[in-house]
Amino acid sequence: TEADILLTVEDVKATYNHAIRALDGVSLTLKRGEIVALLGANGAGKTTALKAVSNLLPAERGQIVAGRIRFGELDVAAVSPDALVRAGLVQVLEGRHCFRSLTVEENLVSGGIGRSAKRGEIAADLERIYTWFPRLKEKRRLAAGLTSGGEQQMTAIGRALMSRPRLLVLDEPSMGLAPLAVQDIFRTLRRLNREEGLSILVAEQNSAVALTYADKAVILENGISVLSGYARDLKSRDDIKALYLGQK
Ligand code: ATP
Repeated sequence: TEADILLTVEDVKATYNHAIRALDGVSLTLKRGEIVALLGANGAGKTTALKAVSNLLPAERGQIVAGRIRFGELDVAAVSPDALVRAGLVQVLEGRHCFRSLTVEENLVSGGIGRSAKRGEIAADLERIYTWFPRLKEKRRLAAGLTSGGEQQMTAIGRALMSRPRLLVLDEPSMGLAPLAVQDIFRTLRRLNREEGLSILVAEQNSAVALTYADKAVILENGISVLSGYARDLKSRDDIKALYLGQK
């Protein structure tokens, strides 16, 4: 039903600098409690689509020129990125943005600031995040820049979780990570999904991993969503990789 739908992207077209057509018709629907993967080759438009969802395109001289995006009742284009975060739509940008010279714990705490939470709440949220990522508890006093790539990605995700999202949006969490670290991250994301009901939209070039952990997937090609369906169905189709996903 309508009430189950958390995010709708309706035939969105977007440009950069009033010129480059980065999206040329992207549609997707995410229901409450789902993990949806956004797949596609390098340059297909995944990052642009995620930025559109968080209303981050204007900051890059980008704009939506057609279509519309709704997060719950909100028309995303009419709401500031900060207000979207407060409404529960939180994004982990590509490249695991941590503050490298701050400790892991300081990074996590910085994610709770926008919520103007009370001290006790921040402490409770930290403990909650440490139960999801025990490695971060061990490393909490280390500068984030001194931890492994996987731990930095966990820190970036943990920081996002500090603002208590309903929908977590992740841009290529596997990027640059060893295969075991990638599995670790995706396994934890799925547990967060199953046990806390966190909805997740994740862009990935690593289609094998994404299709293993997602419920549904949408494939982008040249800025157009050309195919979507249940992840398990898409996973069993050998033609898809060759057709749409480049090498991987
Ligand atoms: P990647 O895996 O490299 O992140 P992607 O699927 O996320 O690829 P986008 O980064 O969304 O693809 O890029 C889509 C198109 O938009 C590309 O042609 C790209 O060159 C262009 N583009 C992306 N960001 C900008 C920008 N800030 N300014 C101008 N053009 C951009």
